[in-house]
Amino acid sequence: MATVTLRDLRKEYGNGQIVAVDDIDLSVEDGEFVTVVGPSGCGKSTTLRMIAGLERPTDGNIYVGGNDVTDVHARKRDVAMVFQNYALYPHKTVEQNMAFGLRMSTDLTKDERSEKVRETAAMMGIEDLLDQKPDELSGGQKQRVALGRAIVRDPDVFLFDEPLSNLDAKLRTTMRTEIQRLQNELATTSIYVTHDQEEAMTMGDRIVILDGGEIQQTGVPKEVYNDPANEFVGGFIGSPSMNFLDVTVETDGGTTRLVGDGDSEFSYELHDERLRNAVRGHQQLTLGVRPEDVSVSGPGGNAVETTVEVIEPVGSDNYLHLDVGEDFIARVASDVEPDNGERIHVSFDAGDLHLFDADDGESLLYEPEQSATPTV
Ligand code: ADP
Repeated sequence: MATVTLRDLRKEYGNGQIVAVDDIDLSVEDGEFVTVVGPSGCGKSTTLRMIAGLERPTDGNIYVGGNDVTDVHARKRDVAMVFQNYALYPHKTVEQNMAFGLRMSTDLTKDERSEKVRETAAMMGIEDLLDQKPDELSGGQKQRVALGRAIVRDPDVFLFDEPLSNLDAKLRTTMRTEIQRLQNELATTSIYVTHDQEEAMTMGDRIVILDGGEIQQTGVPKEVYNDPANEFVGGFIGSPSMNFLDVTVETDGGTTRLVGDGDSEFSYELHDERLRNAVRGHQQLTLGVRPEDVSVSGPGGNAVETTVEVIEPVGSDNYLHLDVGEDFIARVASDVEPDNGERIHVSFDAGDLHLFDADDGESLLYEPEQSATPTV
């Protein structure tokens, strides 16, 4: 087990034309499970490949267990990587695939290697597959073998590069739980890359959100959800996505209101002092409200009158597409069933509002928590 620390880690391609990873700083604690999430092309794989030693950084340093491994060859780093496409040797059996890394990285005898492979195969529930070749296996079985091959080496660090993306939805959920169970049992420091925010949120002790090669926010999943550092994180984490409205701050005597721009009839009075303080000195803002924080209510107070454009039943809930700004969704209980075209009132609590600077998208309410910056 070991800590992993990235300092000003940078990767450029094409003589600096493409900055894939833009001066990243990250500390992963010993035994921690960190998920790294972001849209396609945001630099997730490149970051992971640099930690594995498969890609050379343009600048910056990588420390594993406090040792600078930036210039250490991949084979000499005690890290094991699990890939999306399994990367199994097609001509080797499952047993040979699992034993191969051990042969390279340890001086165990053949019998000792075989014993370890059998133990790990039992742990993964793949003992019956040891004599088979990869093309005789299902996708799920191949990924179990790939995981087993990483586990059998007993590395300091596991690196996962979208390992479940090729599996169907049901199997993906099972394997998520399985990987979490194994990681709890082994307590091996793990960095898990995915483009799927739900996977990142459910699996990570801590979650790192990347965009454009830069870290947008680091925190435990609940903090990142409740207190996004900027508009990008607010919109990326959570499903359906956070609703955004362009608003103007209007102050009149003792009252402060957020008023919807354009044709919107939106107007929300800020009674809460914390919010009034946050918006002071700002004129244009982006207001964020999560669909699950919107409820159908009666008129009065800050209720917004709107038209139901479409009602979308998803079984457990109904998604109401409302005529508030652009594409505004309320996620309500399945027995709340207004008609398409019906005029209704919706409300949301002041405590559930998110406020972002209209220019740079930074949250006006963000308060970094202790856990966002662990000391390693
Ligand atoms: P992600 O894993 O988040 O999808 P990547 O780390 O694969 O993103 O890529 C980050 C950026 O770097 C992308 O713009 C991608 O096109 C670019 N990139 C990655 N590898 C190379 C390469 N070998 N040559 C040039 N550009 C690359």
